[in-house]
Amino acid sequence: MNLKILWMYHDLMDLYGDRGNIQVLKTRCLKRGIDCQVDTCSLNQKVDCSEYDLLFIGGGADKEQSLLVDDLLKRKENIQKAMDEHTFILLICGGYQLFGQYYLDGDGHKINGLGFFDYYTESASRDIRCIGNIAIEVEAEGQVFKAVGFENHGGQTKQVSSPFGRVLSGQGNSFGCGSEGFYNGQVLGTYMHGPLLPKNPQIADLIIRKALMKRYDHVELFPLDDELEIKALNTMLDRILK
Ligand code: GLN
Repeated sequence: MNLKILWMYHDLMDLYGDRGNIQVLKTRCLKRGIDCQVDTCSLNQKVDCSEYDLLFIGGGADKEQSLLVDDLLKRKENIQKAMDEHTFILLICGGYQLFGQYYLDGDGHKINGLGFFDYYTESASRDIRCIGNIAIEVEAEGQVFKAVGFENHGGQTKQVSSPFGRVLSGQGNSFGCGSEGFYNGQVLGTYMHGPLLPKNPQIADLIIRKALMKRYDHVELFPLDDELEIKALNTMLDRILK
């Protein structure tokens, strides 16, 4: 069994440890004897996204988002093909924003998104940002669990048809809205950096399972020893929800 990951714009979109997500996916696969191939692709590099089980884009500042958007929009048809063929997609913050309608940055500059989903993102103002630790409750794939992360975004994302989680503490999609991220069973977009997966092994396994299901009918992931990960998660939950 092997998992093929395409890490898009690895050199531009990588904030607050987002690259740690790749590390975790790789390690959790290898511990289970699943080969894990990680390829990268950035501006002007030819690649067929549909050949991969998992696409990953991290977060980035407005400048990086503007830099890559033309390149990303050229890949729209190919990313659609990947989705049609059941590739799983993980998007953090700036990457998440770019799959919606548009992102209006703090200077009023509009960056068009891929438009796959209805949600859109507008900045409140240059000085107002959602910053800090965040805790959410997730209900996905028949599981209910708590997750933690760190958010830092000016963009306020609205019109999210199916949020990933319910905010227990922090902001999420927009100030005080109560919902965090987007999840439709195939695309997971979230504001949670930190990075997301080391502290939330349940999310890591959910992603690995869904991504492997693209090419394998029967995917059973045996449990790993997550004692330290769970300790870290619970420590953060205690701190955030105290
Ligand atoms: N530039 C975007 C914003 O400020 C995304 C930031 C990020 O990826 N952390 O909303």
